[in-house]
Amino acid sequence: MVRSHWLPAYIGVGSNLDSPQVQVESGMAAIAELPKTRMILRSSLYISKPLGPADQPDFINAVVATLTQLDPLKLLEYLQNIECRHGRERSEKWGPRTLDLDLLAVAGKVFNESHLTLPHPGIAERNFVLLPWQDVAPYFVVPKLGAVKDLAEKVSVKPEIRMIV
Ligand code: AMP
Repeated sequence: MVRSHWLPAYIGVGSNLDSPQVQVESGMAAIAELPKTRMILRSSLYISKPLGPADQPDFINAVVATLTQLDPLKLLEYLQNIECRHGRERSEKWGPRTLDLDLLAVAGKVFNESHLTLPHPGIAERNFVLLPWQDVAPYFVVPKLGAVKDLAEKVSVKPEIRMIV
């Protein structure tokens, strides 16, 4: 039998609909219940202005650090299940959403498949990903990109963002 290793995996959590803070808390609680996965740390919560269409509510963002034995594709499937249970409907790109779970990176893994890109594209430009990620794993080296704290130092201050809890 091949034993699965426990690998660090980082998940971005965001919401801007239906009590976003409650959605984010509930999304993180659901991640903590995933099989073959342990939640290690959760970041502070941040509030950020939306990227894209501005006529939508502000987002609440956080990042969760886990250790997982799941294959990244299986982990993504579980995350999409959680999104669905939170009433997520996939509509316009950059549009409002009750719960968005992004698999940001899994240690040592690079994927370029139709369903899964790892590291998640756009990380380096997104302060609402990098600032909470820095709370939980500043020294994690994102495959192909470098340490989270170095990326966070270089990222733009836009969209406007601040820590709330
Ligand atoms: P979004 O609507 O922005 O949440 O994008 C979801 C789509 O992105 C789904 O079809 C996923 O299969 C795909 N996707 C590709 N890579 C990732 C990733 N690293 N994390 C989450 N979704 C991903």
